[in-house]
Amino acid sequence: MNSLHAITEHVNTRMSWLALCVLTLAIHAFAADVVYIGKPDDDSYTRRQIETASTFYGLNVNSSGSVPSLLSSISNPKTVAIIINAAMLPILDSKQVFALMRHRAQPVSLLIAGIDDSTDTGALKQWSLGAVTGSRKLDTAQADGQYEVGDVSEITRQLSNSTLPFNRGQIFYLVLTPTTVTRSIISAQVKSATLSVFARTTVMGQSVFFSTSQQPTEIPVTADPYRQQHLFAAIAAPMMFLRYAGGDKVWHSPGDYANLTIDDLWLREPYGHVNYEELLQQAQQHNFHATVAFIPWNFDRSQPAVVSLFKAHPDRLSICVHGNNHIHQEFGPFEEHPLEKQVEDIDQGLARMERFKELTGIPYAAVMVFPHSVAPRATFAALKDANFLATANSLNVPSDAAAPQGAEFALRTATLDFATFPSLRRYSAENDIPRPQLAIDAFLGNPMLFYVHESFFASGIGAFNRTADTVNQIQPDTHWRNLGDIVHHLYLEKLRDDGNFDIRSYSASIEITNTHHRDASFYIEKKEDFSSPLVVLIDGQPYPYQKTGRILWLQVPISNGATRQVEVKYGREMNLASIDISKHSIKIAAIRFLSDFRDNEVSDTHLGRWFIRSHVAYRTAWNAGAAIIVLFIALFLVIGYRYRNRRASKRKQVFALPGKIQSK
Ligand SMILES: [Zn+2]
Repeated sequence: MNSLHAITEHVNTRMSWLALCVLTLAIHAFAADVVYIGKPDDDSYTRRQIETASTFYGLNVNSSGSVPSLLSSISNPKTVAIIINAAMLPILDSKQVFALMRHRAQPVSLLIAGIDDSTDTGALKQWSLGAVTGSRKLDTAQADGQYEVGDVSEITRQLSNSTLPFNRGQIFYLVLTPTTVTRSIISAQVKSATLSVFARTTVMGQSVFFSTSQQPTEIPVTADPYRQQHLFAAIAAPMMFLRYAGGDKVWHSPGDYANLTIDDLWLREPYGHVNYEELLQQAQQHNFHATVAFIPWNFDRSQPAVVSLFKAHPDRLSICVHGNNHIHQEFGPFEEHPLEKQVEDIDQGLARMERFKELTGIPYAAVMVFPHSVAPRATFAALKDANFLATANSLNVPSDAAAPQGAEFALRTATLDFATFPSLRRYSAENDIPRPQLAIDAFLGNPMLFYVHESFFASGIGAFNRTADTVNQIQPDTHWRNLGDIVHHLYLEKLRDDGNFDIRSYSASIEITNTHHRDASFYIEKKEDFSSPLVVLIDGQPYPYQKTGRILWLQVPISNGATRQVEVKYGREMNLASIDISKHSIKIAAIRFLSDFRDNEVSDTHLGRWFIRSHVAYRTAWNAGAAIIVLFIALFLVIGYRYRNRRASKRKQVFALPGKIQSK
């Protein structure tokens, strides 16, 4: 602990305060602007949607000041998009706005937002050169419809030809005159009618977008991983517009990543319905990567042939950490398994994984998949303290916490909201995953994580192929990687006005490659609670950083084509070699034996698989059921015993009679 402190202090004193001040200024001054022109007291839902989308992308909304000063901002090179509330159309001079747009060195896009049935139709015709002739209202309260996204690839990107759910209420749609330069981007599909709600046309060489007003919908953000579709649908038009208009100047991921994790397996051939050799073939043919969520207890029982297969194909097969002993509630509520015990399990799990690595030569990603369900918040902090990279579970909200509100949490796969430790959500591929959910992830640059168990492959080793094909069809450049690689690319990047780059990291360990064909500085920010001592390392060497509230900042130069590793190392120094990794508990050995029996024997029959699935889903009911059955059996035995005794004593009496006679 002290040595970490010493390194940090040493590095910090070497860096001058002046340099730190310059860094602070440099971090905030270079975000691109969206000019928003609305009425002076504009508190419309349209404005709120635009602010939400702009904040999500790291854009400043410039909406204060007089109309002339906002108009003059159009010429500012920092401006990447202009949004005019439809209520302002009759007040503004379209010729003046288009002239200002045309005189810029860099092109800029214009969105006319919040169009409804009260919008001046004359103004709409004028601003669209006749392409949009009006807007009408449709009551969809009873309508069973959906939004359909068109195929305007530079705008709709991975959402092309996808659908989005309707949020309840009425909709306004555009009355479009078909022209060669006018395209509908989002349409409401209601019964047999297709009604455009977001469209683009070209006016005097400029791209002009039109979007209709939406009825305010307050959608609460929950931990549900599928929350994303309704929330995204509410801001889809400004999200697509700003992504297009902002280009590299909005937060975007360094690539699209995906992974399939199979829980509970160890390296024996086959494990239940998983034959690794055949799985590898499927992964190669359908382009996916399979990670085994490995129970550390199994560290010393790998079969050499399977080990060789994993070592020969690290691009397709890998290992991450799944609990320690995988006993029930191992990382559950503290009343059942106190925090100190959970910390012991974290440490022993790591020590066992290190031993696994020594024995097999297979590396593992220190990404924790909690057994059964997600852990409490304090366990997240303990994982961070043990320098785990991340945790990935079906819910990314700790069991004792509430989902944070806001688009940032709602729309991203990863969050640092809990102990500033990376928590990722993953989808069960054992159930149908709605295609729009995956298209939204791809559009937002979210890593797509899937998980299954061995019984998923009962229908055949190709069971995951359909999901992999869907992902690869939505995003052909998807990088299927191990979870460690994915966490090392868990950041967003955006181009600054000074030609350098901002990085927002969702991980304490990232790898940045400068692919921009010139040397550049990278300004890195990571949310940090500074609850334990830390040190920042660049390519393994201590490096200065700055602390502002709950943000850790640093600036790193990266030359053209080079890659640098940025790492934050935390608190606890552990001597893993000194931890007892033996398996002396008979109870744990029995649980592991029964789990192996379940996956390798019971899972082999239909009835067995039904029982396993049902037991996972209705554990309490099954346990109660089992208790009742045991009670009945006990009762039956007792009754049976007493009945037998009674009959036996009657028989004795019967037989005794002659005896008595005989004895007589
Ligand atoms: Zn498990």
